[in-house]
Amino acid sequence: MPKDAAAVILLNQNLTEVVWAQRNPKLAFLGGYHAFPGGKLETTDAETKVINCEDAELSKLIACAVREAFEEIGVLLVSNGEKLTRGQRASLHDDLISGRFTFAEILAHWNLWIDAENFIYTGFWTTPAFSPVRFKTRFFLAVCPPKQVPFAAISELQNVEFIKPLEALRRWKNSEVLIAPPVLLSLKELSTTVDLRLGAEKLLKKSQKSDGQIRYIELNPRIICFPLKTETLPPATHTNCFIVGGEEFIVIDAAAREKTEQDNLHKLIDSLVEKNFTCREIIVSHPHPDHFGGETVLQQHLSDKFGLRVPITAHRLTAEGLQGKVKIDRVIESDEVFQLKNRTGEFFELKVLHMPGHARGHLCFYDEETGFLLASDNVVGSGSVVIAPPDGNMQNYLDSLERMRNLPNLKFLCGSHGSAIFDAKGKIDKYIEHRLEREQKILSAMQHGAKTL
Ligand SMILES: [Zn+2]
Repeated sequence: MPKDAAAVILLNQNLTEVVWAQRNPKLAFLGGYHAFPGGKLETTDAETKVINCEDAELSKLIACAVREAFEEIGVLLVSNGEKLTRGQRASLHDDLISGRFTFAEILAHWNLWIDAENFIYTGFWTTPAFSPVRFKTRFFLAVCPPKQVPFAAISELQNVEFIKPLEALRRWKNSEVLIAPPVLLSLKELSTTVDLRLGAEKLLKKSQKSDGQIRYIELNPRIICFPLKTETLPPATHTNCFIVGGEEFIVIDAAAREKTEQDNLHKLIDSLVEKNFTCREIIVSHPHPDHFGGETVLQQHLSDKFGLRVPITAHRLTAEGLQGKVKIDRVIESDEVFQLKNRTGEFFELKVLHMPGHARGHLCFYDEETGFLLASDNVVGSGSVVIAPPDGNMQNYLDSLERMRNLPNLKFLCGSHGSAIFDAKGKIDKYIEHRLEREQKILSAMQHGAKTL
């Protein structure tokens, strides 16, 4: 069950810019991502004084958003707060962070309160189901009080700044930042209005239309991550299907076996085909059962509905492993470069890399220009990668990790399970370190006389 949470879309006085911040890259949940200030509802949020709000549920969520904004970026969105000096606010902040007093107690002591009329509810978004930690986050739009300047008030955040939504999107398009999915959706809506306060209504409509569900994530303008429910290994529950490209695109690991999940994916792919975008190939990254199972259904669907003949592709060794299960139309022998057209019709290169270790025919995909690596099962968002001989091979795996870490321009990576990872190199280094540490333990056991497996 997603946990209740709230966040603030904080505007500057001119209503042209919004506050965002980068989460510390070391954080397990969305480390390095840019996001709006916000966080989990606490039981004491119900005790905070909120006026002009009849709805107790809404009132505690506004209190949560205000408390989180104060904790994270030091901005105090309360009535009667103008009398406080910066020093007093810092002392209040310290009282709150140290846990000496609850937010409700602090406000009561200083005769401060929250006026719900200063907050516009803009809907809620739920963290996609593939994440081990999930929130149902309500977003509230508010204006930063004069004379208060947001800053990184806790170590979990850095690079707090006001930014124009168009500039934020430009950085995302250039692969300078990763943006939390609901924040990306919000920025896209806000970028279409000049007076950002008027964007509130659009945001609410957008959230209501999709019932707060985020079905897929745009990692950048040409890589879509579509988590599909599969029977994979715990803690994962989903396999990420990737749709890469634009006017020409490929589909990687259409792995869903359940019809409703297949239909969800088909709906998105249909919408691309209906724009006259071309589906070039459907690729299976490797022959494990949580990576195939829907590709033949997708191929048949595109044939029935549009009369298209889209080949299913895999590495030769994967094709061998899938004999009798999936008919592979074209085999990949070694590394290959795909020339694909992006959404605006320009060509870009997607490198298909043979990266064995987890499985012999295992493929990864690299968009060098944006520095985005799709690592399939070589690196996963959570849990550990299984290396099971004879199909798995530890030496090959370590070689593949080394090759991945040395890819030119490498920035971000996304594996087949879990969210995209901000610090690709750091993550791969940790993987290598962890494996070598295990190897060292085995070596040491052998040196101390261990003889059997
Ligand atoms: Zn696998």
